[in-house]
Amino acid sequence: DELVSQIAAGEVVERPASVVRELTDNALDAGATQVTVRLLAGGVRLISVEDDGSGIPREELPIALRRHATSKIGSLQDLESVGTMGFRGEALAAIGSVAELTLLSRCAGQASAFALDARSGELRPAARAIGTSVEVKELFFSTPARRKFLKSDATELAHCIEAVRRHALARPDVGFAIWHEGRLVEQWRPATREQRLADVLGDELIDQGVAVEYSAGPIRVSGRAGIPDLARARADHQFAYVNGRYVRDKVITHAARSAYEDVLHGQRQPVYALYVEIDPARVDVNVHPTKIEVRFRDSREVHQAVRHAVEYALAAPRA
Ligand code: ADP
Ligand code: MG
Repeated sequence: DELVSQIAAGEVVERPASVVRELTDNALDAGATQVTVRLLAGGVRLISVEDDGSGIPREELPIALRRHATSKIGSLQDLESVGTMGFRGEALAAIGSVAELTLLSRCAGQASAFALDARSGELRPAARAIGTSVEVKELFFSTPARRKFLKSDATELAHCIEAVRRHALARPDVGFAIWHEGRLVEQWRPATREQRLADVLGDELIDQGVAVEYSAGPIRVSGRAGIPDLARARADHQFAYVNGRYVRDKVITHAARSAYEDVLHGQRQPVYALYVEIDPARVDVNVHPTKIEVRFRDSREVHQAVRHAVEYALAAPRA
């Protein structure tokens, strides 16, 4: 069973950034308004994610660590319309099988917090305000082969920051902070979406960008498209969200690129943050363990909507 869980962990936990992504998902699912990420050595030595969400009741702490234990969906029908980031109940179990994991949580109505050490199973009273902290130490300590695949601390840190950035663009109403080796490296305060886009992506999308706003049938596409010089543009500034979930999706990428080709004839690098909202019944989010890929029931309607949305935005007269 140890082996089975380590194999399953490989699909969810590839590097520190995977852990940051999963723990931040959980914090947001718990209704956090502030998420603080602390890292040592690019996250390899320590990842701590602290939130002010609802917390986990004492008696549920051991359950949270179990495989396929989720408090978020109760039936197959829920899976059709899942509104939370998590729903597979895999992340904590997977992380706990490849690192030292401690859960520290306090929920409303509880006089104190409780800490659970995943390895020993020891549960003890602790101190903290309402919310949850998850501490993950020495990632892949017992699987040196996997640890060898990790890159330099600087590279792993960059991936961790990127993971938080993706969440920050999805949830401008939530504050985020990232600390590395005791230094504050990024901080995004709660803001409007426009302001968050400016804070996270800077003038590439704001000074030289246009608003995207388009609806067609069951699909709404909004956000911002940049039109920077090819030389200045950063190719990695392409963010796509489906119902609030960051995705890497060929349909959306292709549609956006086609629009840039049509309107700007390939003279500008596509740079965008696009938010697609669609009837949840028309998209399947349970196709990949990391939930970064989705499958649309009708990819043509999504392609058309995104393409038109970006075309209209780019073609609109600019001041
Ligand atoms: P999933 O998110 O798919 O449900 P996880 O393994 O990520 O599975 O988490 C297991 C369970 O632990 C969650 O369903 C939730 O009940 C609880 N949990 C994890 N992290 C938090 C958190 N930060 N705040 C509140 N509850 C949490
Ligand atoms: Mg989760």
